[in-house]
Amino acid sequence: MLVVMRHDATPEQVRGVVDVIEDMGYEARPMPGRQRTAIGLVGNDGKVNADRIEALPGVMEIIHVSQPYKQVSREWRQEPTVIELANGTRIGGPEVAVMAGPCSVESEAQLVGVAHRLREAGATILRGGAFKPRTSPYSFQGMGEPGLKLLARARAETGMAVVTEAIDDESLQLVARYADVIQIGARNMQNFSLLRRAGRTGKPILLKRGMAATVKDLLLSAEYVLAEGNAQVILCERGVRGFDTHTRNLLDLTAIPVVKALSHLPIIADPSHGTGLRAKVIPMARAAVAAGADGLMIEVHPDPERALSDGAQSLWPEQFEELMEQIAVIAEAIGRELVPSLTGRPVRAVV
Ligand code: PEP
Ligand code: MN
Repeated sequence: MLVVMRHDATPEQVRGVVDVIEDMGYEARPMPGRQRTAIGLVGNDGKVNADRIEALPGVMEIIHVSQPYKQVSREWRQEPTVIELANGTRIGGPEVAVMAGPCSVESEAQLVGVAHRLREAGATILRGGAFKPRTSPYSFQGMGEPGLKLLARARAETGMAVVTEAIDDESLQLVARYADVIQIGARNMQNFSLLRRAGRTGKPILLKRGMAATVKDLLLSAEYVLAEGNAQVILCERGVRGFDTHTRNLLDLTAIPVVKALSHLPIIADPSHGTGLRAKVIPMARAAVAAGADGLMIEVHPDPERALSDGAQSLWPEQFEELMEQIAVIAEAIGRELVPSLTGRPVRAVV
């Protein structure tokens, strides 16, 4: 339930509503907006006495959120949520943010070397898994904490923000210490206890769509994080299981405008896992920006043939540079622009 205040409501009137909500035993979340303040009532068990709230001074109306995901919905918050990282990258506003890097952190030379090239190309967020959720227990499982230390070193050298995955409670504690954004992967999208704990870290969360998850499932999983008082969630479309074996997954680009209509949260696309094929990453990345994605996650490896994971879908750095130039043009064509690069140079638009 959402209590919308009149535009001339005073801070005391807002406080009065919060007090009554808390007195009734629920949690109140005031959300100041450009036009007016709204106060979310969290934990509605169907027994809320709305009349008592509606009669309070300064209250304009009460909106009953019809969607099962409450705080994630557009009804709850009409303005888009913009998440700002420590290095100034904003996700969810007019700018398109790019996260890039290897699937797994493998060595200092691999990670720090590629990070410099990605920064030069205009990416502002570095990705790289130190804890890998692999389908086979015999595949490379990630470097663990030494990998996180390498990510921190790459951040110190380049100024890029770092996104890396937590796969369980143990890795979450470590990842929360090092990362700017905590990634919850497709396989953990419905690990509800992990979602709650990740929410409680207060850090931005990158939530990837599960491979058999509907958009509604994805939004309900995001609700777990928001329910912990953390509204900094970035959704990620990374493809769902299809029946056609030509690609690894079926990148559902329709999910981008669908999510935009249903939720205020930013959504990015991951065409690397979405296609599984290097040659298909660039066209689908271009399409994702055209479809309105707030950002991209792209796997790039300095030597994909020797990558310890996901080499077949990793771009060569040269390909990534080309992609950045192309998406700069596409962003501009739809009234957006790329997040300003950390080099101070604009990403060259090749027309
Ligand atoms: C990854 O980003 O490397 C990853 C494992 O992604 P997903 O959870 O989407 O498979
Ligand atoms: Mn990967």
